[in-house]
Amino acid sequence: MILEGLFAKGPEPGFCCIGITDHCFFKCKMCDKWKTDISVKPESRPPAVKEWKHFIYQLSRMVKHRLKGHSPGSFEINFAGGESLTHPHTLELVRYASDLGFRTVIPSNGYLIDKRMAEKLNKAGLSALNLSLDSLDPAIHDKFRGFPGAYKGVMRAIEAMRPYRFPEIGIITIIHDKTYKGTVDLVKWVESHDKLNWVLCMAIMQPNNTIFESGWYSRQDFSELWPKDKAAVIDTVGNLIRIKKEEEERHRKGHAAAVKLVNTMPQLSAFRNYFSDPESFVKNERSCNLDNAIQVSAVGEIYMCYHYDQIGSVHKGDFPKAWKARTASHIRKKIKSCRTNCHELINCYFEDEYPFDAL
Ligand code: SF4
Ligand code: SF4
Repeated sequence: MILEGLFAKGPEPGFCCIGITDHCFFKCKMCDKWKTDISVKPESRPPAVKEWKHFIYQLSRMVKHRLKGHSPGSFEINFAGGESLTHPHTLELVRYASDLGFRTVIPSNGYLIDKRMAEKLNKAGLSALNLSLDSLDPAIHDKFRGFPGAYKGVMRAIEAMRPYRFPEIGIITIIHDKTYKGTVDLVKWVESHDKLNWVLCMAIMQPNNTIFESGWYSRQDFSELWPKDKAAVIDTVGNLIRIKKEEEERHRKGHAAAVKLVNTMPQLSAFRNYFSDPESFVKNERSCNLDNAIQVSAVGEIYMCYHYDQIGSVHKGDFPKAWKARTASHIRKKIKSCRTNCHELINCYFEDEYPFDAL
């Protein structure tokens, strides 16, 4: 009887992102991950490898029917960071998750990927690698990534991966004040590149690891990031929409094997609204879908949305129980009714057309 009160039925998990480390040797202007983490308590310790593996194993039992290896319909674990390739056990955990049948993904600045690392990524069974590249102008990319040679590192990584079918490689590019003029050229470059499989454009958001603040884009310290010429950046987004339509048309007619610009049309329309008026930009009236997301911090704290309380911990080793517990159910209710003017959803975890279909 008591147990009935403690457990509710949780939804099936939809996505898992493990922020395996907060460490990074780049000093990007769009991300403060390289500074001391503002949310980590000093007494926190990262999980040991066997604790991470236990968590991944438990998750695999919860999503058994979705373990289809590399295929896009497979349940995905994103090993993010920081720069996840600086963590000594990332590849071991990728190997473990891939062997269980998860689709495994690493986002990376690319700098550590030489021929040896490329071979290790392939051997670990990694499904996909997302390389960050914001501009085809090395000076712009290096300046905003805060690391001389960042651009060369991405190009080296692409060439190092050339012998391998997996991981497939895509580019993630951030649209901000100093990059949007070159975004269309970058997307076209990916379209014609024989080794790159996709490009995802992201709209500049308030940098990671800074205290969330409405109106962040007007702050002096972020002034290099937010596009000053609203009409010009909206024009760029309009061109991306045109490219997307043309790609889809070519694909429909059988003239292109795939549509490489992977942003959805509703998402690109949302970028237009966002750059036009970030303050009134809101998700649509449907409730937030992060109630089935699993986001795990480098110290093993498990969340659905980082703006709400923790639902569990990798250290405790009881994830399936935590997922269905009353605490998780309460947080899920809050997420479902969350009315935050949330910019996070503009770039990540959209499902089909959610949350932009009504914009
Ligand atoms: S955006 Fe990526 S590469 Fe840049 S500091 Fe953050 S974690 Fe490092
Ligand atoms: S709308 Fe944003 S803040 Fe609210 S639950 Fe969803 S992701 Fe979290």
